[in-house]
Amino acid sequence: MIETRTNLAELEESIIGGTTARRGDVVMARGEGCWLYDVDDKCYLDLASAQGVAMLGHSHPALVQAIQQQAETLISCPNFFYNDTRAQFSAKLKDVLPDQLNHIFFANSGAESIDGALKFARLATGRSGIVSTMRSFHGRTIGALSVTWEPKYRKKFAPLLDVDFVPYGNLEKLDAALTSETAALILEPLQGEGGVNTASPDFFQGAQKLCRERGITLIIDEIQTGFGRTGKWFGHQHFDLEPDIICMAKGLGSGFPMGAIAYTDCIQEMLFPGAHGSTFGGNPLACAAGLAAIQTYQDDNLIERANEMGDYLNSRLTETLAGYTIVREVRQLGLMVGIELREKVGRYLRALMEEHNVIALPAGSNVLRLLPPLIITKEEIDIGVEAIAAVLPNA
Ligand SMILES: *Cc1c(COP(=O)(O)O)cnc(C)c1O
Repeated sequence: MIETRTNLAELEESIIGGTTARRGDVVMARGEGCWLYDVDDKCYLDLASAQGVAMLGHSHPALVQAIQQQAETLISCPNFFYNDTRAQFSAKLKDVLPDQLNHIFFANSGAESIDGALKFARLATGRSGIVSTMRSFHGRTIGALSVTWEPKYRKKFAPLLDVDFVPYGNLEKLDAALTSETAALILEPLQGEGGVNTASPDFFQGAQKLCRERGITLIIDEIQTGFGRTGKWFGHQHFDLEPDIICMAKGLGSGFPMGAIAYTDCIQEMLFPGAHGSTFGGNPLACAAGLAAIQTYQDDNLIERANEMGDYLNSRLTETLAGYTIVREVRQLGLMVGIELREKVGRYLRALMEEHNVIALPAGSNVLRLLPPLIITKEEIDIGVEAIAAVLPNA
């Protein structure tokens, strides 16, 4: 008796419905490219890449083949053995990482990579203080939540780690917050959940300079901005930064669940066996997915494509929404787009889904966020833009 859409939705809701706010009662069954199909085979344009992860779209043949082949060969391999796929993937990832980030730790999610990065920073500096920014989002495990600003996520879970929050982009306040007790400063190059906003190059350069002068580890959260999302391999490359640590997850395996921390020689020198660990981290199946994902980003020039398609999306949005007083601003870097509204965004996201079968995301309360797959076509962008223009009040 669980065949119908309503029954499947109710079944899932009754068992794992505790923490997720859902939009409607759609039961997704499969995906192909930028499209998702529900159990009734109705199709939806996914301008969110399943929460910013499916850079290659859904069930990309190269990813599917790599996962299938690896599954037939070896799924699990503990980290006290070397593994051929893990070695190859490490080398491939290092290929695309900034030069100073010579070392990698494999985790299984974004939050987990943030937790690891905080540990590494404390170990490297022998200090405990952590500074983060207002409107930041870094995940929801106890460590990652501690550096996440949003009060509604934090409120009921105190005491968390003791973290100082400074306004994102305010160098003066940052200067005052970074002390001789500070182990780490953690920054997103572009705040995703916080509203698709970034800070000035001067802020980022100034922040890096302060960290260097004061022996503070600079951690950049590239979980949402990594792997071409912003039109470069990593978001911090827009600001010529040289972070000590970056955290990765979402696009790392194009949706295959995995995370990673990349870090410098200085941090490597302080690590010791047992300093950190993960049972599943670096498993061959995830590594095969990551290897195929990065290989495809390279082979199909998808980082460049994110730039081109991002510019096209931006220009289409800007021209189409020109007369819309509800739109305060369109912000875009690569294929990371925020349409800031003068109203709450919830009802418009619902209308997009219900009336136009288009999936988008919120960022904060009043920003409509688009994180489409890097393989998106101009035709698909046009469909999305027209749907957005149709649901927003045109006056
Ligand atoms: C999604 C996200 C996280 C958390 O990743 P999870 O895999 O959900 O733990 C952390 N930081 C940023 C910037 C994110 O977008």
